[in-house]
Amino acid sequence: MSLKGKHALVTGSTSGIGLGIAEGLAKEGVHLVLNGFGEAHEIEALRQRLASDYGVKVIYDGADMSQGADIARMMIEVANKTGGLDIVVNNAGIQHVSHVEDFPEAKWDAIIAINLSSAFHTTKAAMPYMKKQRWGRIVNIASAHGLVASPFKSAYVAAKHGIMGFTKTVALECAQEGVTVNAICPGYVLTPLVERQIPDTAKARGLTEEQVKRDVLLAAQPTKKFVTVEQIAATTIFLCSDAAASITGSHIAVEGGWTAQ
Ligand code: NAD
Repeated sequence: MSLKGKHALVTGSTSGIGLGIAEGLAKEGVHLVLNGFGEAHEIEALRQRLASDYGVKVIYDGADMSQGADIARMMIEVANKTGGLDIVVNNAGIQHVSHVEDFPEAKWDAIIAINLSSAFHTTKAAMPYMKKQRWGRIVNIASAHGLVASPFKSAYVAAKHGIMGFTKTVALECAQEGVTVNAICPGYVLTPLVERQIPDTAKARGLTEEQVKRDVLLAAQPTKKFVTVEQIAATTIFLCSDAAASITGSHIAVEGGWTAQ
């Protein structure tokens, strides 16, 4: 069965990995709900481009993924417009790099809210529809940091380990109802999120930015290559396919061999 005509929400799809996943799904004929921050005219241009390039319906909702009530509002509005979601990709995420003793409380709360709790809110709202139609796909964009830790990323690593547990738990709850729940664990992808943390990592470790790229980021990846957004999009599409119907409560690590070490 093809994915054509299904409806997908990709959170945080105005940039980076989420945008790549949204574009990959649109190529498969999936109607999209875009979400994320950015300039209104740029988001509208993106919405129109995806709709006209791939002949799919594309709507945008700017719900703030740190706010449970706003997510609940978005999910009701989206359900009214689409009739319900078939695919939810929980991708929105932020990062902050700092020693734990200097870690700002507000950053901790925001990372846990956006990188972990937002997936609870979208999943809670989408699950009744998916169970009723006996088909659904939830794909959580975790991280290699859902499997292993790095220093100075306490909130991020906690949230990403948390979403791995959430993925497994929800998968068990809907295992007999045609709904799968999985995580993807990317290694480093050169997106704005990673580019923004290079100066902070340089400061925290006393290195130059070039040294951070070579000796910190890619030091962890045996391939010595950044993962691409297209590779994460292709993995998402695979997890949404019928071929992956027996994969649930699991994860696919797309991290250049990082966690094999
Ligand atoms: P990015 O900064 O390029 O994109 C993040 C997206 O999330 C943007 O669309 C942004 O507007 C949105 N967003 C941020 N805060 C939001 C909020 N409060 N409400 C709604 N949207 C919000 O980042 P990215 O690198 O593409 O990261 C996407 C996901 O992939 C994140 O969950 C990240 O942890 C994960 N990830 C990234 C990497 C990497 O190396 N880039 C590696 C592993 C996992």
